[in-house]
Amino acid sequence: PEEQFEPDPSKKNLVILGTGWGAVSLLKKLDTENYNVIVISPRNYFLFTPLLPSCTTGTVEHRSIMEPIRSITRHKRAAVKFYEAEATKIDPERKTVRIDDNSDVKGASNNTEVSYDMLVVSVGAENATFGIPGVKEHSCFLKEIGDAQQIRKKIMDCVETATFKDQSPEEVERLLHMVVVGGGPTGVEFAGELQDFFDQDIKKWVPEISDKFKVTLIEALPNVLPMFSKQLIDYTESTFKEEKITIKTKTAVKKVTDKTVEAEATGPDGKKSIEVMPYGLLVWATGNAVRPVVKDLMSQIPAQKDSRRGLAVNEYLVVQGTKDIWATGDCAVAGYAPTAQVASQEGAFLARLFNTMAKSEAIEHKIHDLSTSLNLKPGNSGEVAVEIESHEKKLRRIKDLKPFHYTHQGSLAYIGSERAVADVSWLNGNFATGGGLTYLFWRSAYLSMCFSTRNRVLVVLDWLKSKAFGRDVSRE
Ligand code: FAD
Ligand code: NAD
Repeated sequence: PEEQFEPDPSKKNLVILGTGWGAVSLLKKLDTENYNVIVISPRNYFLFTPLLPSCTTGTVEHRSIMEPIRSITRHKRAAVKFYEAEATKIDPERKTVRIDDNSDVKGASNNTEVSYDMLVVSVGAENATFGIPGVKEHSCFLKEIGDAQQIRKKIMDCVETATFKDQSPEEVERLLHMVVVGGGPTGVEFAGELQDFFDQDIKKWVPEISDKFKVTLIEALPNVLPMFSKQLIDYTESTFKEEKITIKTKTAVKKVTDKTVEAEATGPDGKKSIEVMPYGLLVWATGNAVRPVVKDLMSQIPAQKDSRRGLAVNEYLVVQGTKDIWATGDCAVAGYAPTAQVASQEGAFLARLFNTMAKSEAIEHKIHDLSTSLNLKPGNSGEVAVEIESHEKKLRRIKDLKPFHYTHQGSLAYIGSERAVADVSWLNGNFATGGGLTYLFWRSAYLSMCFSTRNRVLVVLDWLKSKAFGRDVSRE
């Protein structure tokens, strides 16, 4: 149990920052008996991000995709310490991490330091805003549970406000204009979920707005979903057209106010024009930026000076320029896309690496002890020498751990009206597919990835509930 956590002075302190995809997949496979394991994160749960867009409309309830970190740590063989805190400063010289409790309830101790022998940075990324004025103040993001709850509340607030007595037609149009910025998978999946919510539920409950609700997706590049094949991009764009979602490509947002989005659109003739779009709800999904604690660490390590997108790591995920810091997931630059798939494979790799390191250290100690006894008591040298040799063989085998290798299983995205797109690698080939069957595949794939049996059951029940009774339109 947690309370029995007593750091063992003979073991190294392994500090893990974060409770996301990278950190949790490491924790799941790590043999915690080998280290004093300390997990630090401002969030005391793991979040299954692939279903976060479904939470914005209540297709899935938020608690169904959260898994308490303590339900993971309590099943470990040796106790793991968890501190709900944010790492605010990493000092690689003194090997310490400063941690702050930034939650609402604070005790007398809320800012202190933790020492590490080995550190894993898995803090993920923050939302990119590119310094565009007004974004931070006026938009909703879609990264954390709180973001999804805020969006869910705001959608219904816009609907109820649009139907308020004596609302002018222009104001109704503004309030019911839902703008999504960023045509990556987050923006596309959210736009699809939102249109579903409107078509399947809102329209029935509030019929007077049925021809006024509008979703617009804005993307700076010439097309949405750049990581998918051309065929699936076309499929997504034509599905969106059918769903009545407006896609504005080659349109880059430059400024946001409390009621409008200003964007620069490039026409087919290459001419640029400024478009001002009034909105009721604005969701900003333009990808990742480096977290301050990571930026600060990078600034202390000369070998990181040319890295821009996060901590540059080597093929064993060791942060370049350090010996005892590793990084995984969205905060690490290992040459892969910032996805859950990559982060979880990296976390599992580190668990194998650390388990191996502990095993080989134990064998090295054994060899050392045997050699000493051989020197002290040369009498039974034959037997001991054989034993040493067998340990050395084992050591060579264990030390032969290959560098990290990522296996891409494919890309999958939900695009609304019970359709999904998938670029899947299978039996050494790739195939691209879209449509209703892919949607069933999307659902079953997510279900099999879903964290615990408890999560799986909750998600299925949510899907059934929203199908049978419709999504809940009360504004919490
Ligand atoms: P995260 O999972 O973000 O975890 C970071 C952890 O660090 C969190 O626990 C956070 O609380 C903690 N933390 C933050 N700051 C600090 C600090 N200062 N100190 C300590 N801890 C800190 N990828 C896919 O492959 N497939 C998908 O279908 C998919 N869908 C997605 C849908 C959405 C809406 C989003 C936003 C992302 C999606 N992704 C998907 C991407 C995927 O979620 C990320 O790539 C993945 O979460 C990265 O894992 P991570 O461990 O690096 O970071
Ligand atoms: P992203 O980086 O994939 O896409 C952001 C998009 O925003 C880009 O296409 C960019 O051109 C556009 N953009 C940037 N600034 C803009 C501006 N000012 N105006 C208009 N458009 C602008 O971001 P994401 O969708 O949040 O995804 C982040 C990561 O998470 C990616 O690696 C993605 O693969 C992963 N993810 C995967 C899934 C999935 O597999 N289903 C779902 C969500 C996220």
